[in-house]
Amino acid sequence: MTPIVLASTFAQDGPGVLKGPYDYSRAGNPTRTALEQCLAALEGAKHGVAFGSGCAATTALLLTLKSGDHVLVGDDVYGGTFRIFDKVMKQFGLDATFMDLSDPAKVREAIRPNTRMLWLETPSNPMLKIFDIAALAEVAKKANVTLAVDNTFATPMLQRPLDLGATVAVHSTTKYLNGHSDVVGGAALTSDDELGEKLHFIQKSVGGVQSPFDSYMVLRGLKTLGVRMRQHVKSAEVLVDHLTRHGLVTRVFYPGLESHPGHAVAARQMKGFGGMISLDLRVGDKGTAPSAAFLRALRVFTCAESLGGVESLAELPAIMTHASLTPEARRSLGIGDGLVRLSVGLEDVEDLKEDLERGFRAMEAAL
Ligand SMILES: *Cc1c(COP(=O)(O)O)cnc(C)c1O
Repeated sequence: MTPIVLASTFAQDGPGVLKGPYDYSRAGNPTRTALEQCLAALEGAKHGVAFGSGCAATTALLLTLKSGDHVLVGDDVYGGTFRIFDKVMKQFGLDATFMDLSDPAKVREAIRPNTRMLWLETPSNPMLKIFDIAALAEVAKKANVTLAVDNTFATPMLQRPLDLGATVAVHSTTKYLNGHSDVVGGAALTSDDELGEKLHFIQKSVGGVQSPFDSYMVLRGLKTLGVRMRQHVKSAEVLVDHLTRHGLVTRVFYPGLESHPGHAVAARQMKGFGGMISLDLRVGDKGTAPSAAFLRALRVFTCAESLGGVESLAELPAIMTHASLTPEARRSLGIGDGLVRLSVGLEDVEDLKEDLERGFRAMEAAL
């Protein structure tokens, strides 16, 4: 098993004469290197760079750009990613435009002379929108723009952005890759030598690195990624089938449904449709009271933010993960009072079904 090398510094044979590849653990650490190589292999990348969180990985990637550069960003990205663009990088002159990336022709038109990066998430959060990575990679390539894909929701087991033409895959390893809700981590994976070098430079200069212990934990989680993802997908499909038939559900968002607008693209670029489900509950004009009652009644699903762990989680984006968005922004994305997001875990699927029924009974009483 990979040793956890806790050393912050490494003895040298003489001044400047290193015994091996390491001198100081911010610049490089053997446990972190093992993780970086494993993540790179999973994404089919030459270079892997691991960080202390997904947000640190995102920030490092943006720090490869400079003041005056412009980034085109999907309008349905993770809230923390939006905040990095809107509240942090903006202060340093990095310009960002948020738009629906569904139509590659519109994306091509939106590229400006100073656009350096196209940033997307697919499936997106929480609406599980699908964007065509190969089509957008073509647009990016023609415009000499870096295509960054946040692959957190799919994982390389279900989707490999680099194979589809993306320049770099970004991850919050906090989610499925570690998979046990006990690490916060992130990574960027690329085969572009210049970008890989820049990322390593930012990593050691800015220093948001993954600790040796957490690197070990993510490596340990990765050993079961394949079996976990297979079961997440299998159970999600059973629950989607159950939910689409339910009278208290107005709509189910899942790329595996033929009625999903991104289904054909998802079927082409993904090996499975994932373990995340969003659903609209029939709350009428009662606000979030019925959906909150639904969530409070659940006993197998835990009411919590985050996703991708062995435990099933349920949350209400309007007042939890997406509370920081303006009501107008939520409305335009389709995040209403009845929208519930589920991260389907590895419990017995019959227990999960029964738990949802418990939620529906509580919701009915609140209507
Ligand atoms: C959680 C998440 C992030 C941020 O990662 P942290 O590890 O929480 O910093 C980025 N993108 C997506 C899609 C996420 O779900």
